[in-house]
Amino acid sequence: MSAAELVLSWGAATHEGRRRRVNEDGFLAGDGVFLVADGMGGHDAGEVASAFALEALSPLRDVARIDPDVVVDLVAAAQERVRGIETGPGGRGAGTTLTGAVVAYQDDVPYWLFVNVGDSRTYLMSAGTLDQVSVDHSEVQQLVDAGLLTEEEAREHPRRNVVTRALGADDTPSPDFRYVPVVVDDRLLVCSDGLTLELTDERIAQLLLEHPDPQEAAGRLVDEAIAAGGRDNITVIVVDVASAADGTEGTTTTPRGAFAPDEDTVPTGAWPAREQGLEDA
Ligand code: MG
Repeated sequence: MSAAELVLSWGAATHEGRRRRVNEDGFLAGDGVFLVADGMGGHDAGEVASAFALEALSPLRDVARIDPDVVVDLVAAAQERVRGIETGPGGRGAGTTLTGAVVAYQDDVPYWLFVNVGDSRTYLMSAGTLDQVSVDHSEVQQLVDAGLLTEEEAREHPRRNVVTRALGADDTPSPDFRYVPVVVDDRLLVCSDGLTLELTDERIAQLLLEHPDPQEAAGRLVDEAIAAGGRDNITVIVVDVASAADGTEGTTTTPRGAFAPDEDTVPTGAWPAREQGLEDA
């Protein structure tokens, strides 16, 4: 599939929820860039952190053909911007999650370059099946991985908000990067934990299937999370992939995995050395 044949349509919605006064989430959507950031820190720090991180990444929208290295560099720049936020004496510092996907190119083939730090999530729906692409960097995820908690218990756990990685928190940024070929009819979901705190993956999948229009789907997901409690800020981006050829030239579609048999495998040396984490999780 060449770039000219790739058409992305998307919708996004964000809401402060029912318990929080301020919406510390932010998102960046369009031009092949779909990112959500969920800020944290006292006073106004969280709001500023998510905004600064997304601002640092926004030049990606002006790049016609995004090279993976550029994404890595801008994520590092976002980290620096967030770390520089002044939180005052005794301030614990500002931080933000970052998750989502950027359409990047390798040998003229479009790929979802997935990025994740923290506990916001990126999902990919393919052939009606929803899969979480990102792995949460959170205490409860570690307990789930160890078999000590179920997903349901994690959702209600008192320490469910504790992230183990964030932009701004550490000396070195340690995002997960992963990439997968873009396939026609894929549906991407990028969201903050305010959505997944309230709705199960099963319910999210059901709503995505019920609402073919991406803006309608995003709005519906946010509405339902509010109705289910709205304990946190909620942000959702839904992206649909279509072929400009209207699907009539099916043979031009890049078969998933044609480039890299194992989707988690880094296909070339050009890929950033700090790609990490997902196989271990
Ligand atoms: Mg949140």
